This record gives sequence, structure tokens and C-alpha cells, in this order.
Amino acid sequence: MKKLIGAALICAMTASLISGCTPSDVGTVEPSETAKWMSGRPQDDFYYYANRDKLDNAEFEYGSVYAADAFDDSLIVERLENIVKDVAAGSGYEKGSEEYIIQTAYNTFISYDFDSEPVPEDLQNVIDEVMNAKTADELIMTDAKLYRDFGISGFFTLSASEDVYISGRRILTFYPFVSMCDVSFDSLADGNSALSGLVSDTRVYMQTLGYDVDTSSEYGKKLANLVLSVYGASGSKTAQDSYDVTDTIILSGDELNSIFTNVDIQEYFKAIGFDPNFCDRFGCYNKDQLICMNSLMVEDKLDALKALEIHKIYSSYMRFIAPSYDSLAGYVYDSYKPIEELAVNEIISNLKNETDPLYVERYYSKETDDALRSMCDDIREGYRALISDATWLTEPTRKGLIEKLDNIVYVTGTDLKRHDTSKYAGIGGNFYEFYMGYTRVGIADNIASLSQPVDRYGVEMKMQTVNACYSATQNNITITVAIAGDSFFDVNGDYYTNLGNLGATIAHEMGHAFDSNCIVFDQNGVYNPEWIADEDMDALLERNEKAVRYFEDNFTVFGIYHVDGELTLGENFADLSGMECIVTLAHSNEDLEKIFKSYAASYCRMSVDVVIIGQLSSDVHSPEVIRVNAILSTTGCFYDVYDVQEGDGMYIPPENRISRWH
Ligand SMILES: [Zn+2]
Repeated sequence: MKKLIGAALICAMTASLISGCTPSDVGTVEPSETAKWMSGRPQDDFYYYANRDKLDNAEFEYGSVYAADAFDDSLIVERLENIVKDVAAGSGYEKGSEEYIIQTAYNTFISYDFDSEPVPEDLQNVIDEVMNAKTADELIMTDAKLYRDFGISGFFTLSASEDVYISGRRILTFYPFVSMCDVSFDSLADGNSALSGLVSDTRVYMQTLGYDVDTSSEYGKKLANLVLSVYGASGSKTAQDSYDVTDTIILSGDELNSIFTNVDIQEYFKAIGFDPNFCDRFGCYNKDQLICMNSLMVEDKLDALKALEIHKIYSSYMRFIAPSYDSLAGYVYDSYKPIEELAVNEIISNLKNETDPLYVERYYSKETDDALRSMCDDIREGYRALISDATWLTEPTRKGLIEKLDNIVYVTGTDLKRHDTSKYAGIGGNFYEFYMGYTRVGIADNIASLSQPVDRYGVEMKMQTVNACYSATQNNITITVAIAGDSFFDVNGDYYTNLGNLGATIAHEMGHAFDSNCIVFDQNGVYNPEWIADEDMDALLERNEKAVRYFEDNFTVFGIYHVDGELTLGENFADLSGMECIVTLAHSNEDLEKIFKSYAASYCRMSVDVVIIGQLSSDVHSPEVIRVNAILSTTGCFYDVYDVQEGDGMYIPPENRISRWH
């Protein structure tokens, strides 16, 4: 379970109360909530107070829905572009190294003829194999080949992933379908119109294989019916976020075999190359979908299954297939940018594993890592004090939480290792051959990983993305290189300014270890709801309820739209937990001021109104302005530092304030 922070950035969200208001409004209206925001006093609207210059001068670039962001992440893209260009121009790289791969990708991409290269032979062969299958058993073996050699998930969304219930082990998991062939199940809840695109695309694809219009249309309709069947079997869960990691059902090998009566599922795993010793226990999110897929694996549905595979192959490899068919011209993006620029974009988009170690080497130092880890340790001490003082918890639970706290490990840029060059030394040829060779190493690694233990220090998140996350099953916090620098963390800068910024994010992530989703994982990352005493769980849930009311009753955007307290509960509490932690590390009001200002600045962002309104219903994070003001309005020392009084915009009566730990 990854808790991704939204820290003003990529996975992002929203908001500012400022949209639509200008300071000149003040004075022309009766004293109101609006006037309080615009007063510019920290006691009325701290978010605006701390970000006033940026927000007042914000300009939306044409086409952009955000402005005045705390951090401009085009800086990261620019750095990556420079890395790729430098490597492409260099020489003398070890075969199979990251630089070798980037340079090979660059050169082969530039010389590949995307306008007239014929369909690559192995791709054409597998397309023919799909269409020539006589039985479902034959077709599922081709599906195994598509998985193993082309990285295509056809009939299942299958992956070697962590076993939620046996810490450190991996398990083959059937992830749920929330879409099929680009048709999202959510869209089907509103009607079948999304299927018409699927039918027409499939018709076009089948025509390239020599079928007439009517037959091709039939394939499309049969595929649409197949998608509807799986959607119909899915129950109410149609979106990714309706599934939680603890929804994983474990199936034994025998149970899985008894679901798959129409095909030999164990032969399928063997054909892909999964270690048979690890094919006796499976993770599954939606058993009814598997039962449905089995019911479709019959001769009668063969055309629909073939159309599914063809759709997947064409979608994944369109740029290599389209040059051979005029009818596919509309499916590839015609760019007029110079080919060199396109090659750089290709590498930045698809070879992140190669650019990532180079990014770390250029933009991360031991000095930064030492300072970062030292701040993480301080935050851990802050939590130790909070938990130790939480006398409302029973003694065994407090002891357990401290153990869990002590067992948290940090994963940073220093944990990212370069890869084994021998695996990549043989790849080359033209761009397609390079691309397939490279892709196949990645797939083989995933297949082989099934029998390998999970490394708690393994880097799961790209170090070039601005993010941090907590993993409940690993009990670790990943802090990327991109967030451990620039405006988030200055190794030579002020400690409390750093603490209010990246420190607050890390404290937020550490807070997730104890939120109501993750607390059911014990100190070793094992799913174990029993390890917290019932009375402590009840106490935590009672606080949850109060927090839902606090956010819903007191905070709105545009004065009318309330945040969804349930939806945002986990993130709101992580924010609050983080703030309660970092303020314990301050020694003076001056330290606290730095923390508060830096915290508010880290969430600076102006969004267009429609984005804010849309995200209120879908984002698990509250809008930025609420992440700042709601948290500080319930932070006791904030009242002391700024002498907030009844009547001020930030004032909440003491009896309505909430706390995570106090
Ligand atoms: Zn979070």
C-alpha cells in the first residue's frame, strides 16, 4: 500500500481560495469570511499570508489549470534532457551500462524509419498465431507468449508482487480489471457508449488482417460483449481506488485450478516461466472476474478472445504496425519536432530506469543524504515523544507502536544501485530490436522476482519524481532525490525551514504508519488487525469521526463547497500527525514561525475553479489551502505564536479542535 503524498506536485491536487477574488474586493464588502481571507493577517488566512506575493502575481499560462506552484517541475525535465543529450554525445561506455542503453536508444531511434518500416517479423508471427488458434487452450498459450515476450497482459492483469500476508515473500497476484481495452468500467456504469470506440477500433484493426468490413465489425461487437461480461461480473467495484491492499484474497493452487476448468492454468504459468514452486498460492482481488474469464475461455468465445489479443497487440505496438497500413495513420501521433528532440523525449518517458541512477549521481550527495537521514531521525524522536505521552492508549499498544516506529527504515537515493550490465550487453539492432531486447530484460526480471524475497531497501519509486511514500508492508519510507533538494530541502539552509517543508512531508509519511489503514499492519509489516487492542482501535476510530466532522463543518472552498471528510480522512490525519510531530522539535516561537511559513509555502498553488471543485470529490488530499489552514487552526502553539483570538479567520473554539496524539 503506497501512500503517495501530494506535496504540491505531481500526484497533485488543487486549490486556492484566491481564485476569483482580488485584494481590491476588501473594503467594498461587509466584513465576511471573504474579508477575513483577504486581510493578509496570519491570524485570518495563514495560507494567503504566507503565499501572498506568489498568489497575487500568479499568471495562468495558456492551457494550464495551475499557477503559482511551490515548485516548477519543468526543472526536473530540463535536467533529464541534459543528461540524455550529454550521454548521447559521449563515448566509451561499458556495454550494457545505463549510458550504453541511453546512447543505443538515442541512435537507433533517430535512424529508425517510423514511416515505412514493415511490421517486425516476430510481431507479425505472434499476430498470426493469435488468429490461427483453434482452441482456447491454444490461445492461452499464445497469451503466455504475449506476456513473456511482449510484456502484454492479455487475459489477466498478473504480476509478481508482495504477499500482503506473508511479509517478505512474493506471490503471483491477479490484479482486478477496472478497464479492458481502454474502456474503463466506471464509464460503463453510465452507459455503453464507450464501447462504440472499441468496436470501431477493432473493426479497423481486423481489416488490416484481411477481413471484410462485416466480419471485422463482428469481431468488434464480440469483444465489446466480452468486456461487458467481465464488467457485469465485477460487482460494484469498478475503480482502482475501490480496491485496497487488504482486499487481497489468497487462493491455493487447488482453488485456482478449480476456478479454471476450461484451460490448464498451471501450464500457462509454466509457459510464462514462473517458478512452479511459487505457483501454489495466489493473490486475487476479484474472484468473480476470474470465474467469468474462465467461462469465456471456450470455443464459442474464441473470436472475442482473439479480438481482445489483437486489440492489445495493436495498442501496445501501434507505432511499429501503423507504417504498413494507411488506415492506421490516425492512430499514431504525427510530430513535427526534430527527430533528436523526439529521441530525447522517448528516453525520458520510457527509460526511466536508466536515467534514474544518472540523475542521482548528478543531483544527490552524501552530505545531503546524511542531513536528510538526520532530520528523519529527529522526526522519529518527535513521534517517540508523542506516542510515549499518549496515555489514552493502553501500555501494550503504546509499546507496539514504538516498536513499529523504531522498525521504520528510510529508502533514499543512496539505495538506488546501477544494474548488472551483463543482462543488457547483447541488446542492439534497429530501434524495434533494441526496444524489444530492453523490454524483455525487464519482463524476465519481474518473472524471476517471484521466487526472490522482497528487499525492504529496494527502490520502488523513481528518484527523479518529486515524491515520498510510506509502505505498510515494508514499514519503510521512500524519499526521492527530486524531493530532497531544490525548494524542498536545502542542505545548507535553515533547519526549521527544511523541517516545515520536506520535514513535514516525511512526518506526514511517518504518520501514515499509524493511520487507520496502515495500523492493521504490525511492526514487521504483517497484516495483523489483532495486534492493536480493541479499546485502542475504538479510541482511534472515535478520533477519526471527530476529524471527519472538524473538516466538514469548518472548511469550505468558495465558501460553499465542503471537503469530503471521509474521503480525505487518512491524508488529513497524516498532515495533522506530521504537524504535531515537527512542532515538538522547535525550541522557540521563531523556530515555529519558520516551520509554519515554510509549510504553507510548500503547498502554494493556484488552480482554476473547476479543477478545485472536481478534485473535492475525487482527491484523497484536501485542497492546499485547507491542508494549511485547517491543520494550523487546530495546532495549539500556532495560537500562541500569532496570538489568534476569537473572531479571527483561523480561530476554532478549543472544544471543536482535534488532535491525533494529544
Ligand atoms: Zn499521505
